[in-house]
Amino acid sequence: MAMTTRSCGLGWADRPAAARPCICLAMGRLISLTPEVTDLLAQNAPVGIGTSGGKDSCALAFAVLAHLREIGHTGPRVLIHADLGRVEWQDSMATCRRLANATGAELVVVRRKAGDLMDRWLSRQANCRARYINLECVKLILPWSTPSMRFCTSELKSVPIANELAARFPGRTILSAAGIRAQESARRAKAPVAQINSRLFRKKLGTGGLDWHPILTWSTRDVFDYLAECRFPLHEAYRIFGSTRVSCVFCIMGSGGDLRATATCGQNQGIHSGMGG
Ligand code: SF4
Repeated sequence: MAMTTRSCGLGWADRPAAARPCICLAMGRLISLTPEVTDLLAQNAPVGIGTSGGKDSCALAFAVLAHLREIGHTGPRVLIHADLGRVEWQDSMATCRRLANATGAELVVVRRKAGDLMDRWLSRQANCRARYINLECVKLILPWSTPSMRFCTSELKSVPIANELAARFPGRTILSAAGIRAQESARRAKAPVAQINSRLFRKKLGTGGLDWHPILTWSTRDVFDYLAECRFPLHEAYRIFGSTRVSCVFCIMGSGGDLRATATCGQNQGIHSGMGG
């Protein structure tokens, strides 16, 4: 899919003043589109905007909703947050709620039915230990996810989000927007603007859809500047604790600095010390 871009104008002028978020025009930042995404938006396809409470997903929400208004999209759109449970910063859900208030978009919260991320890691640890004791394997297997084994993201985020979007929008082709950026990693630098999301394909429900990465070309500075222009207060992980990103409080990919930042937040210390939260 070839990448095209469009200017990110903010079309709030037609909203009642009381409902308008307080944001300034942010011309010059680009929303990444493909012809397929543009066509779907023109057909008023439902849009799910993944939001974690982190800076990128907050900027994504403001930018996508502005773009939808600018092009006259009248289809459904929701902010969708995958709640990972005890391993989340407490301010993550609060930030998602503030984002919903600021943008006027509905917030949908999804969770893994079989328990939160800590439950998943603990049950994997117990299962792996039992297999070792029973001589079903000769090496102890890590309980944690790893960068090459991201079951935390797929089972706790991607699957519940796709399930919810498919159930909400039967018979539709859905756009699932995520705030990944090329600058974040070599892997993300290779991510396409849009790609088929097979998890959205449900024969019985008649759904299908695409993952869409609208702020793929934005720099970290773009994100912080844009949120400042939107006058949106950042998650406390940045404001108070000096973290560079909002993730699980002990993300398996967190830097030493970010892990130290999470440990300085009193609300996170239970989960760091006892795993029970
Ligand atoms: S934030 Fe880190 S630990 Fe949490 S789901 Fe994402 S990759 Fe996994």
